[in-house]
Amino acid sequence: MTTITATSEQSILEQVPKQLYIGGDWRDGSAGVLAVEDPSTGETLCEVADASPEDAQAALDAAVAAGPSFAAHPPRERGEILRRAYEMIIERQDELALLMTLEMGKPVKESRAEVVYAADFLRWFAEEAVRIDGRYAVGPNGQGRLLTMKQPVGPVLLITPWNFPLAMGTRKIGPAIAAGCTMVVKPASQTPLSMLMLVKILEEAGLPPGVLNHFATSSSGSTTSPLIHDQRLRKMSFTGSTEVGRRLMADASETLLRLSMELGGNAPFIVFEDADFDAAVEGAMIAKMRNGGEACTAANRFHVAAPVAEKFADALAERMGALKVGRGTEDGVDLGPLIDAKQRSKVAELVEDAVGRGARPLTGGHALDGAGYFYEPTVLADVPDDASLLREEIFGPVAPIKPFSTEEEAIAAANDTEYGLVAYVFTRDLKRALRVVEGLETGMVGLNQGIVSNASAPFGGIKQSGFGREGGYEGIEEYVETKYVAVNL
Ligand code: NAP
Repeated sequence: MTTITATSEQSILEQVPKQLYIGGDWRDGSAGVLAVEDPSTGETLCEVADASPEDAQAALDAAVAAGPSFAAHPPRERGEILRRAYEMIIERQDELALLMTLEMGKPVKESRAEVVYAADFLRWFAEEAVRIDGRYAVGPNGQGRLLTMKQPVGPVLLITPWNFPLAMGTRKIGPAIAAGCTMVVKPASQTPLSMLMLVKILEEAGLPPGVLNHFATSSSGSTTSPLIHDQRLRKMSFTGSTEVGRRLMADASETLLRLSMELGGNAPFIVFEDADFDAAVEGAMIAKMRNGGEACTAANRFHVAAPVAEKFADALAERMGALKVGRGTEDGVDLGPLIDAKQRSKVAELVEDAVGRGARPLTGGHALDGAGYFYEPTVLADVPDDASLLREEIFGPVAPIKPFSTEEEAIAAANDTEYGLVAYVFTRDLKRALRVVEGLETGMVGLNQGIVSNASAPFGGIKQSGFGREGGYEGIEEYVETKYVAVNL
């Protein structure tokens, strides 16, 4: 691990390619440049190429042109490109972590964890590339034969959010490459730098020109909409808010575009009276504070059994109140800034709304003065049922706590949301654990642990958290089509 200085910050910023990457060439953006801001200071870090709709079209053209040859590329070689990229990311993890902190704000130690998590998707899908197969079956009447094969779905559009600038990319790019799909990648305009470094690494790892085409843009809608309506595009995988996901899905209905939608969450964190108390507090810290609360998987509401609710709230408030807030590059910092002023105002409004309705802050409750978009770690007790933060995704370091009396009440409260991404359950009673896990309307559950993310597991939601799975054996399925051949014998 190296000491971070202004020189090391400058050095990593200089290494980032700042152009569009289309058909294997780095080129300027026709819409000029867009500025990338440091959320801990509000100052501009650097500028990158800004794509126009014509640039986006060129990116799709390149992906379409490279499609047939990449589909025929040996799976082992596709896997080896991913494996080499994995090794390169691990080798450069310190500088990639610093870059991520600069553009996104979280502490370097957390960025490093994301870099390793992101790399893991490339390693996992390097291994999956050679395991894409079909089947051969005798028809039930013994007459014919049934042959099924998996083929790459075709050119894909991958749109990623700012909160995990690298991992949300590798989670899509890894299986797309493994399956033999070419692609157009569009990161969030607020955090394009980590993805640009990933593109450079994949280029160095030997990815053929045209397979991955990348653009950042200040006009997401006008650049991606023509691609979504283009019949040559065969799939879109989107990670972002439910609101934008809904709009993109409506757009995609015109061409019946195949979709994966990884959308917002409102995760309940349930603590039963019989839980290991210390493990529950530790799990709560991880589920709430990973990524500063700016995670789709972040615990959004804590439902705690009435007999232990006060003790739990006090313990969580003590841990949250002790966190060091500051620029993510500084030693010992636990919590960085929120991504921008808008996000900070939203968090502040949600807390004011809850407090105005009777919630009681045990720690925090305010934005911090000065440069950057910092908000205090906050724990709220006595949160009334009508507080907006119980229904909306907070996306900040705020933990509302609500007591419950019975198991049925806890499950009902947990499911009382249009979202269904993840839930957390803490109990030592095995039968109860299984009853509750089965009753929860979510795509994932953390049982006695505050984190579910794992490249080898299927990540994804139900209800308005979207559909499709990323990672695990299931992740590759999103990028292949099944063709059935009826064989006359
Ligand atoms: P967002 O505003 O929906 O943006 C996500 C991506 O969509 C960005 O690249 C954004 O680019 C782009 N975008 C916005 N409007 C668009 C449009 N009209 N057409 C095409 N693209 C458009 O979400 P965010 O604020 O970046 O990310 C936070 C959200 O992501 C949260 O709701 C979180 O829960 C969710 N998320 C979900 C998962 C999951 O796996 N379920 C994982 C991480 C995050 P620009 O910003 O440059 O416009």
